[in-house]
Amino acid sequence: MSDCLFCRIIAGEIPSAKVYEDDLVFAFRDIAPQAPTHILVVPKAHIPDCSGITRENSAVVSRIFTVIPEIARAEGLETGYRVVSNCGPDAGQTVKHLHFHILGGKQLALEMA
Ligand code: AMP
Ligand code: ZN
Repeated sequence: MSDCLFCRIIAGEIPSAKVYEDDLVFAFRDIAPQAPTHILVVPKAHIPDCSGITRENSAVVSRIFTVIPEIARAEGLETGYRVVSNCGPDAGQTVKHLHFHILGGKQLALEMA
């Protein structure tokens, strides 16, 4: 998807602060951090959002949730962190490539909505 921002970051066409990469997953620092640690973990394959996860492509989600605690450990988030994925306009999704925010490094607010 040449018009997708995160596909272009994964391809190296747009620079990013990469924190992790394997055959299925790419992770990089959010450009506008909402917490001292704010990392985005994305599938390399273009999936638009959580609603695009299917029985055929969901192996990458398992990989993402294997990688997330590894990144959290490497970032020193031993007192906790939050994982968030915004799906669609009502959730405020701005980039239409599935991504999971890792937020940590401070006491996070409890509001969910
Ligand atoms: P969401 O609002 O859940 O779709 O999250 C999109 C996130 O992507 C936001 O937190 C943005 O700050 C972040 N973002 C947008 N452009 C870039 C970029 N070029 N590099 C890193 N993060 C970005
Ligand atoms: Zn994409």
